[in-house]
Amino acid sequence: MKWDRTSVPEQRRLQNEKLHRYLTEVIAPFSPYYKRVFREHKIDPRQIKTVADLRHLPFTSKADLLPTSEQPEKFREFIITPDISVLQHRPRVVAEALFRGRRAVERRIEMEYRPIFLTATTGRSSSPVAFAYTDYDMHNLRTAGARLIQTFGATTKMRGVNLFPYAPHLAFWQVVFAGLEFGMLLVSSGGGKVMGTDGNINLIEKVKPEALIGIPTFVYHVIREAHAQGRQWPQVSKIVLGGEKSPQGIRRRMVLLLQEMGAGDVRVCGTYGFTEARMAWGECPPPPGEWSGYHLFPDLGIFEVIDPETGEVQGDGEPGELVYTPLNARGTVVVRYRTGDCVAGGVTWEPCPHCGRTVPRIVGSISRASNTKELQLGKLKGTLVNFDTLQHILDDATEVGEWQLEIRKAHDDPHDVDELILHLAPTNGADVEQLKEKIRTRFQTDVEITPNRIEVHSLDDMLKRIKLETSLKEVRVLDARPSE
Ligand SMILES: [Zn+2]
Repeated sequence: MKWDRTSVPEQRRLQNEKLHRYLTEVIAPFSPYYKRVFREHKIDPRQIKTVADLRHLPFTSKADLLPTSEQPEKFREFIITPDISVLQHRPRVVAEALFRGRRAVERRIEMEYRPIFLTATTGRSSSPVAFAYTDYDMHNLRTAGARLIQTFGATTKMRGVNLFPYAPHLAFWQVVFAGLEFGMLLVSSGGGKVMGTDGNINLIEKVKPEALIGIPTFVYHVIREAHAQGRQWPQVSKIVLGGEKSPQGIRRRMVLLLQEMGAGDVRVCGTYGFTEARMAWGECPPPPGEWSGYHLFPDLGIFEVIDPETGEVQGDGEPGELVYTPLNARGTVVVRYRTGDCVAGGVTWEPCPHCGRTVPRIVGSISRASNTKELQLGKLKGTLVNFDTLQHILDDATEVGEWQLEIRKAHDDPHDVDELILHLAPTNGADVEQLKEKIRTRFQTDVEITPNRIEVHSLDDMLKRIKLETSLKEVRVLDARPSE
């Protein structure tokens, strides 16, 4: 059956069936963590028969995975660990042993459950958490990868250059395995830290890829430098962005530069993924200025959308926090995982208006609850500021080349009020005074604060400030306040 053209009732039926089987045959008997949680909450997994029944299971959040002083290796509890005495009594395993022999079955079980690969969370605020994959999960990672490339509308004749930073992070490896499974030439540069900007540009010159894949700011940086050097990249027709949000402003700027470098119709596709899901989802190529939503794989996992305050499940298309449950995973498994990502348009089961696929899609912009910071701007009380909104304003302004927001204490005095300073490098030919005024007005209308100062820098100085080439994650918001 095709993964992306099945009718909605059939997809829902399959999800219910798979969920029930997965919880009763894998999670309840073999997950040390959920075995305990189900016992403590008196949950009988046999009673969970549909996706709607998921609401009877407690959520799992990032905090549940972090090491504690009693359990320094807490993440191990989440690794599916088979009980051989249970497995060898299952009729299917008994039959398999009769036909294929005991050795072959033992080997198959080992391949299914033994971790052979890891990726880890990036851990900007806390220590990284490792997620293990077994051979079984590698198959899922490859399947997700091939489906991603299909979603982007690429063909095996195309070539791609993967500019994601080389690290044990999902994004880099999702792309590597996508190319292997789909069967297209995909070269991984390792990003700016491994090859430098010129190294990446030279690699692209040699490979002549149709697709450029990477973190929005780094892909944009490489295109901008190549443009400044007068390179011609007429064959580029797709840009695939991941690892962070990709607002329309930065998409538009990439396309304009590439068109000046000889390219024709360039389509930009965003992706969404996270370490805990051990896969990513993507957009089909939307017309310029539009989003098509992240096309999900309903046979591999379930997304619920909840009210982040009450935890109540929202209806189709309603906004809320994304909660993920896999349907067919081994290795490290989290169930009803709260992502902390809030999506404006929720999850819709309407067929995609662009490609006609019938899979559910995550639609609307995604913001992270943790990107809201409390600033002490006046003497009296703190102000909550959503830095996602600020980022959207800055990325959308065509005259802004690079930017960074810095929060610091006035007069460097830890007891004084907070100050918000905007550092920016304007694009060539921008009217700096007009730009400053425009940003002040947008900040005031959208978040009701204005920066205390706007400092203008050269592009080179800004690139050093945000550590684009030297760090795995660029520094967009610099909180320079002394920690409590
Ligand atoms: Zn589509």
